[in-house]
Amino acid sequence: MKIGVVKERAPNERRVALVPDALKPLLAAGAEILVEKGAGDSAALPDKLYADAGATIVSRDELYRQADVVVRVQKPDGDDVTSLRAEQAVVGLLQPLIDPKLMGELARAKVTAISLDAIPRTLSRAQSMDVLSSQANVGGYRAVLTAAAEYGRYFPLLTTAAGTARPANVLVLGVGVAGLQAIATARRLGAVIKAYDVRAETKEQAESLGATFLVLKSVADASGSGGYARELTAEEREAQQRELNDFIAGMDVVITTAQVPGRRPPVLVTAEAVNKMKPGSVIVDMAASALGGNVELSKPDEKVVTDNGVIILAPTNLPATMPAGASQFYARNMSAFLTHLMKDGELNIDMADEITVATVITHGGEVISEQTRKLLEPTAAEAAK
Ligand code: NAD
Repeated sequence: MKIGVVKERAPNERRVALVPDALKPLLAAGAEILVEKGAGDSAALPDKLYADAGATIVSRDELYRQADVVVRVQKPDGDDVTSLRAEQAVVGLLQPLIDPKLMGELARAKVTAISLDAIPRTLSRAQSMDVLSSQANVGGYRAVLTAAAEYGRYFPLLTTAAGTARPANVLVLGVGVAGLQAIATARRLGAVIKAYDVRAETKEQAESLGATFLVLKSVADASGSGGYARELTAEEREAQQRELNDFIAGMDVVITTAQVPGRRPPVLVTAEAVNKMKPGSVIVDMAASALGGNVELSKPDEKVVTDNGVIILAPTNLPATMPAGASQFYARNMSAFLTHLMKDGELNIDMADEITVATVITHGGEVISEQTRKLLEPTAAEAAK
């Protein structure tokens, strides 16, 4: 089986799907590795390192011609879709629920589309393949560094001959994988941290990292299934925003990470709350995308400075800003996933396997993921036309 590592073409994407260190188990399992020329350049991984690790460096055309499995980070776009051919597989963060049409297109081309964001995360044997956690971890770390770089004061308490700097008050909203890493990172920088989440179990986790947990009267516990939060009701949402508003006013830095699977992210920081913040305060909205974010005034990938001097950042791809570290984790996940799927040196699509059935979105010319298929069904209005 030939595995092809392509060079990412999405704007600002600097990660690469496999790094030289992650090739060993794949080669041992009988795979041959092809790497597109320059695929690792933006992650400080020159072609020579791949060649030394046993890969063959090829042109993009040659890669698509030869590879049985094309591995990537972001979902393919443009030429990267049309270059895929029948019986070829593509593995990456394909986001089938956000772009189901692409899955329809790949099914028609008889391409097997396998999406790593669909890994069953609660399955303990899939933990080494959990790209959502590995990349959220990088994101949480970078969010704090981004905030610290933008904040015009110190994070730690500093006593010097020139006076004393008070530590920054940091609030982390959403204590999942990214939030926990944000707490740990802000703590290492010496900030005073408050944290809040709607899942009650996160209180102990946040406290163990040195944060003070904020308990709101408005929402008791909103744990959903699989370790995720459920969506709040409209009344709960309003009450939560009201309670948070006053609290946010006293913060120097706010990092938001709150997500609800398959839904728009909840608005946790309203324009009213931002209005009450001090000039120079910094907000990093990690949940921002075209769907919206946790901060009413944030704009994806833009820096907003409000009239009262609050800086709002909404970076949509923080892991790509730390390409070498993020690629190392991503590649480890990818390599664990591919070796799990391989049998006798070939890709084995075994629908009796829980990990395979969750991640294979298209196969044999069909969209086989039920969730994705549903999104492709015409709506009643469309069907009536
Ligand atoms: P996520 O990215 O979906 O959400 C981030 C956080 O936002 C979550 O903690 C969620 O509770 C919180 N949130 C949602 N709505 C909110 C609101 N209105 N107000 C405040 N907070 C809100 O979550 P994630 O980081 O991908 O994962 C969440 C949890 O899932 C993890 O912390 C873990 O407990 C669990 N998980 C388990 C496994 C496993 O069992 N192997 C693997 C991965 C994740």
